[in-house]
Amino acid sequence: MRTRLFIPGPVDVSPEVLQKMVTPMIGHRTNDSSVLQKGIHDKMQKLFYTENRIMLSTSSGSGFMEGAIRSCAKKKAAVFSIGAFGDRWYKMAVANNIPADKFSVEPGQPTLAADVEKALATGDYDVVTVTHNETSVGIQNPVEEIAEVVKKYTDVIWLVDAVSSAAGAKIEVDKLGIDVLITSTQKALGLPPGLAICSFSEKAYERAKTVENRGLYFDMVEIYETIEKKNHQYPSTPALSLMYALDYQLDQIMLEGIENRFARHTEMAKFVRAWAKKHFELLADEKYCSNTLTTIKNTRDISVKDLNKRLAMRGYAISNGYGSLKEKTFRIAHMADTTIQQVKALLVEIEDILGL
Ligand SMILES: *Cc1c(COP(=O)(O)O)cnc(C)c1O
Repeated sequence: MRTRLFIPGPVDVSPEVLQKMVTPMIGHRTNDSSVLQKGIHDKMQKLFYTENRIMLSTSSGSGFMEGAIRSCAKKKAAVFSIGAFGDRWYKMAVANNIPADKFSVEPGQPTLAADVEKALATGDYDVVTVTHNETSVGIQNPVEEIAEVVKKYTDVIWLVDAVSSAAGAKIEVDKLGIDVLITSTQKALGLPPGLAICSFSEKAYERAKTVENRGLYFDMVEIYETIEKKNHQYPSTPALSLMYALDYQLDQIMLEGIENRFARHTEMAKFVRAWAKKHFELLADEKYCSNTLTTIKNTRDISVKDLNKRLAMRGYAISNGYGSLKEKTFRIAHMADTTIQQVKALLVEIEDILGL
């Protein structure tokens, strides 16, 4: 039996998208390759509301997170963490010998603009990183408010992890002034894992050029320049099969309508939140709750592990809490091509299992 995934990645992928992965190979230095990659570039710009260059990487999203912080931080990075993925960015800085300070909060709290202001006002930092949607706690940070702060610090490069929200929540890169917005294919985009995607501003490029020891595979300058010099081709051989799938899926997203897609995600999120409040509690203040997944407090002291086992027998998978929140919370993802009907069907099964 096929399991329907309500976990925050990998997500269910439509058979049509999967079918694109078996497209016959082409040379990665051919014109066909350039056409494919330019098509993806232009469509991703629309999805991200940006004129910035779009770059792909044959890695998961973490590859570009590491590449971006390593290529852009010259002085010191201010890493704002509200959970596991914010922490990961800090670990990447440390592992690469990049001076960085981590600013953390209690689990369930967002990154506040006032805290970003306080850090940047010291003048110590030339990079700031923010997690748009922290998957470990189901929080979407108030990037519009944070943007107002970051805009005042023109020497600071702003890196945003939107791995679990891009294509499931509206993020207007140019309006917000985000220098680097990073995502992966296996979350709200609705593709198999294996590609990272980012938008990269000219300002970030100008900075990165002055940074030494950017590494090689994730050297953002090398990738940025190769795209220009070689007509949208990449320094090394990219995952062309995934690119075929991505190009097709972006067409499907445009057919649905970008705004309609975000609205569908919002409708699912609202439904799950209302259900969670009826039977449990939300981990976060509702105003910061994610558009793509909901983290629910286990106020009934159920066995999350057992619930997931019984759901598996019925062909469904949800997620337990992350790290220390493992049994204290559980998470329901509602992203990518998932429909409100599928979400409702899942919740009926959970009610039945728990006798709610
Ligand atoms: C999944 C996730 C990541 C890691 O992405 P990979 O593609 O697995 O490397 C980073 N940040 C957030 C917020 C995520 O949800």
